[in-house]
Amino acid sequence: MRRLRRTEPLRALVRETSLEPGDLIYPLFLCPGEGVRREISSMPGVFNLSIDEAVREAEEVASLGIAGLLLFGLPESKDEQATGAWDENGIVQQGLRALKRSAAAKKLVLMADVCLCEYTSHGHCGTVVKLGDEFEVENDSSLELLARTAASLARAGADVVAPSDMMDGRVAAIRQALDDDGRINTPILSYASKFASAFYGPFREAADSAPQFGDRRSYQMDGANGREAMNEIELDLEEGADMILMKPAMPYLDIILAARERFAVPIGAYQVSGEYSMLHAAFARGWLDRDRATLESLLGIRRAGADFIATYFAKDAARLLA
Ligand SMILES: [Zn+2]
Repeated sequence: MRRLRRTEPLRALVRETSLEPGDLIYPLFLCPGEGVRREISSMPGVFNLSIDEAVREAEEVASLGIAGLLLFGLPESKDEQATGAWDENGIVQQGLRALKRSAAAKKLVLMADVCLCEYTSHGHCGTVVKLGDEFEVENDSSLELLARTAASLARAGADVVAPSDMMDGRVAAIRQALDDDGRINTPILSYASKFASAFYGPFREAADSAPQFGDRRSYQMDGANGREAMNEIELDLEEGADMILMKPAMPYLDIILAARERFAVPIGAYQVSGEYSMLHAAFARGWLDRDRATLESLLGIRRAGADFIATYFAKDAARLLA
């Protein structure tokens, strides 16, 4: 076996998996204000950005050959109806319009996350009804708000809408809303099998979206369930999802591989905040080689079968790959 490992040209010749800047998507967190660039303490090198700063960031991302952006928003204020998510002047809608006017937009796929948790006062991904101490995240009443959100984001310029809420039937509801609005060409990237995971922790600081009570286990998937994940994906594809996004990535590489073997649609994976933060914690202590571990973490996700990866390492990796 060692004959083919002797030199870098030989190794390159027989390399099975590639990693390119064009495989990567960079998540951005948009916040109100001007000239705001606020670092997220648990995610070194990741910032909440006001729209003017986000446009500058997009230009850098485009110049590195990265495929696109995945946009999240931190609204001015929150309420029970997640008004900031579907408001025509919501933070992401404003951001999309500004980004569309920039030169960077021609080189980037602008993806908009569709969820309510960043915009609801309670921090859940759907509408909540409370019955005494008990509460329920209602499915069907959430669909209308999610569909409205997706249509509004598409109107503002999203090239792709990416529902991450995990309500049942949201893909069908969003497809219908997009079609009714004449957005027949807007694809849906569904976070089809999103697991309830401890690895989302740092994101909740970044997007200010921690639930104020309870947790998300009544709608996100149980980490123990692989067959159920295939079922979730199948249902989303039947409802009209064009692509699927697997989340988290590293602790669920087997799920990515199983989906790859079973479904022919494009598959993305989200290397989530906790994956990024724990690697950074090890870099800070000098326990891992930053450059090699960054690329290896991404290569593993590609090898498992992901066509593209949403990752906070996108800019670092693109520089290393240049
Ligand atoms: Zn959510």
